[in-house]
Amino acid sequence: KLVSREFQQNNTVVTVGDAHFGSDSIPVIAGPCAIESYDQLYQAGVDAKAAGAAMLRGGAYKPRTSPYSFQGLEKDGLEIIKTVGRELGLPVVSEVTDPRKVDLIADCVDMLQIGTRNMQNYVLLKEVAITKKPVLLKRGLSATIEEWLMAAEYIMSGGNNQVVLCERGIRTYETYTRNTLDLNAVPIIKYLSHLPVIVDPSHGTGSWRWVTPMAKAAIAAGADGLLIEMHPCPEEALSDGPQSLTPNNFAQLMEELEKLSTVL
Ligand code: PEP
Ligand code: MN
Repeated sequence: KLVSREFQQNNTVVTVGDAHFGSDSIPVIAGPCAIESYDQLYQAGVDAKAAGAAMLRGGAYKPRTSPYSFQGLEKDGLEIIKTVGRELGLPVVSEVTDPRKVDLIADCVDMLQIGTRNMQNYVLLKEVAITKKPVLLKRGLSATIEEWLMAAEYIMSGGNNQVVLCERGIRTYETYTRNTLDLNAVPIIKYLSHLPVIVDPSHGTGSWRWVTPMAKAAIAAGADGLLIEMHPCPEEALSDGPQSLTPNNFAQLMEELEKLSTVL
């Protein structure tokens, strides 16, 4: 298998602008769950960059559990993230949910995100493989590690080896947290595969309070990066406010990660 360590011994490094996933650096992707306006994303980008984030994120097409929830700014959102990324010199990532929109989104972002709900949308996986853009492949919320790696195999066998895996929590009997962050996956993926793996403690916990400790745990476990939801004003967020860090808390997390890196 193309994803396996047997096939390739040395780590794959996925480069997006100045962010190198799978290298000695630990790039952090930060930004709001959803792009809500130019001002909101610009402010998030300024705060993310000031704190040391390597990439800016924001969803334009939001796969919401309820069809009545905010679905994203769609094409307008893509224009916003493209503009803000250029203005701030930050590479950007946004989610693609529809095979018919892959080219449109690929033209506006530096990395394509496949969300948890679409990890096994094989038509979509084959379509992102064709673009040759780096792909952030989130783990399906009920996917085994094997199934997750096979999803990556679809992208690689389609001709795109620029895949970053993202552990974002799985569904278990525990309901105190939104999901159960499976940090086992980090060393296991590093053992089974040469692909970089990053961790998203925001969706993994569902509450801002647990994001910083789990982000630190992820790095200690060997993660190649982090995805952190951060909003200029989480209480006003149109999606995932409860799990979003304030810019202040995000800056503090980045400082703590810096300290952690000196002891690891
Ligand atoms: C997101 O990153 O905002 C998102 C929708 O993530 P997931 O697919 O992991 O739920
Ligand atoms: Mn979200």
